[in-house]
Amino acid sequence: MTSKISTSLIPALLKMKCPQCRKGNAFKDPNPYHLKHLGDMNALCPVCKLNFRPEPGFYFGGAVVSYPLMVGFNLLVAITFYLIVGDIFNHFLSLMLTFTIATTLVAPVMFRYSRMIFLYIVVRYKGAKE
Ligand SMILES: [Zn+2]
Repeated sequence: MTSKISTSLIPALLKMKCPQCRKGNAFKDPNPYHLKHLGDMNALCPVCKLNFRPEPGFYFGGAVVSYPLMVGFNLLVAITFYLIVGDIFNHFLSLMLTFTIATTLVAPVMFRYSRMIFLYIVVRYKGAKE
C-alpha cells in the first residue's frame, strides 16, 4: 500500500511537514493565524520522532532566514505597488503604509516558514519508511 502523502521537498516544506520524514506535522496547530499557538511546535515528530527542539535557542537561526524572506516579500510588494500606482516617490507614505500592513498580515506565515526553512537546511531527509 502506498502513502498518498507527498514526500517531495517543496510540497512538504509548504505544508510544514517534518524535514526528516516529510510526513509528520511540525506545528501543533496548522493555522498560523491562531496567534495564541503561533510558535507551538510538537516536541517530537509524530511519525519519525525527530526532536523539533534539539537545543535552547535553536530557532535563532530562523531569524537569519526570516530577514531575506521579508526583504524579498517587500520587494514584491514594492513592485506590485509600482505597477498599480505607477510612481513610488510621490506616494512614499502610502508605500510605507502598504509595507506596514502587508508585513503585519504576512508575519505569522513568515515566522513559521523561517523556522521550517531553517529546519530543512539543518536536517537531512531520511526517506519515507512505510
Ligand atoms: Zn518526521
